[in-house]
Amino acid sequence: MIKIHNTLSGQKEEFIPLTPGKVKMYVCGPTVYNYIHIGNARPLIVFDTVRRYFEYCGYEVNFVSNFTDVDDKIIQRANEENTDATTVAETYIAACKADMEALNIREATHHPRATEEIDGMIQMIEELIAGGHAYEQNGSVFFRTRSFDGYGKLSGKNIDDLISGARIGVDEDKEDPLDFVLWKPKKPGEPAWDSPWGAGRPGWHIECSVMSKRYLGEEIDIHAGGEDLIFPHHENEIAQSEACSHKTFARYWMHNGFLKVDNKKMSKSLGNFYTIDEVLARYDGQVLRMFMLSANYHGPINFSWDGMEATKTARERIMSGYALLGEKRKTASDKPMEATFKQAVDERIAAFEAAMNNDFNTADALTQLFELTRICNTDITSESGTEAIDYARDAYDTMADVLGLIIERREERPDAEILALIEKRTAAKKARDFAAADAIRDELAAMGIVLEDTREGVRWKRV
Ligand code: AMP
Ligand code: ZN
Repeated sequence: MIKIHNTLSGQKEEFIPLTPGKVKMYVCGPTVYNYIHIGNARPLIVFDTVRRYFEYCGYEVNFVSNFTDVDDKIIQRANEENTDATTVAETYIAACKADMEALNIREATHHPRATEEIDGMIQMIEELIAGGHAYEQNGSVFFRTRSFDGYGKLSGKNIDDLISGARIGVDEDKEDPLDFVLWKPKKPGEPAWDSPWGAGRPGWHIECSVMSKRYLGEEIDIHAGGEDLIFPHHENEIAQSEACSHKTFARYWMHNGFLKVDNKKMSKSLGNFYTIDEVLARYDGQVLRMFMLSANYHGPINFSWDGMEATKTARERIMSGYALLGEKRKTASDKPMEATFKQAVDERIAAFEAAMNNDFNTADALTQLFELTRICNTDITSESGTEAIDYARDAYDTMADVLGLIIERREERPDAEILALIEKRTAAKKARDFAAADAIRDELAAMGIVLEDTREGVRWKRV
């Protein structure tokens, strides 16, 4: 039985899917105006691990994660760089995908982009207006917050306290300062789409309500993101979606705690702001992934280079243990496995599952990988047979796979070999043989090489 800390109730609850054997899950993705930073990597890694564990338990997971590709910050960036918002978004989506690959984050079942879902947004806004939950004013459309009874149920905020809250901007077009924007009228130099209320663009919150509905339906199992999204983003998503559907939008709300650097909020001005690339220049993506999983997702995590170094050493221990099994297997006898050894390994797997069942406690789950290493280092000797070794290796593979960790040592390939493969892939793409191009990309990925298609050509890095 999997238990999930549900922000909605503040309790750990047993996970009961809407449809037996299936999980419908939506994770709010990044706004693509820059390279993603290590804080953004936390929800990516954590919820990828949640998905992997559900799949290990036999669930079929429909995992949707969006890219917010229209936003003030993207437009500002485009103006600074003398380009357009689409180019900015394309650049950073490609970079984000390369970062995700470096962190062994699997592709979502669907990766919708806000700009490709505008029709659905217009439709939902029309429904909200028809239902009395929204109104148009001078080309803007606002959500009538007080018209939704459950407002505040996720964040625990009381609607009357919010009125005096400093975060609510005063806008003359709004009936009530609590109302939030669904549609913004076009400003010069901004991307815009036609709508019944004139040219404009959607507000951020409506994007996720619509993309979640389109790919997962009106009711979903899990909606997730960083804890900063609880209010107002997720609260507003609930209001929009439930005002339309009159159904429970998401049953479980999962939020990861924040990543700090040297116990301080990460910020450019403090000089403690790191992109994934900056970390990958010093450490394998796997070290960052393991570091992120070494703390419970729900609480904060403190990034430091010392912490990364310690994680690297710890990872080495697991990899050596695993490699040693491979070595010993070469000369192993056919002696059957001893019952006590089997039991010790089974106990590690059971403890691993218990940890993951307990609100995806990856820190405790990782401990079991170290415990397994300890057991193997003492119990597997030159006398051990293949049965015991294979059993232990399977246990390693199972745990590592759920956590998205690669524990096999990879052979380092020479640059020339990699460049030749990249050239072959480019040629295949030119010939429109995309299957061949993808196969080469996969081949490179298996060697630990990640590609990024940029306007200047293909960039590659080892992860
Ligand atoms: P954004 O692009 O700012 O919307 O962020 C994308 C995702 O990263 C959201 O789920 C945020 O909550 C999350 N996030 C941003 N900064 C951090 C941080 N320092 N620690 C953990 N999660 C973060
Ligand atoms: Zn969202």
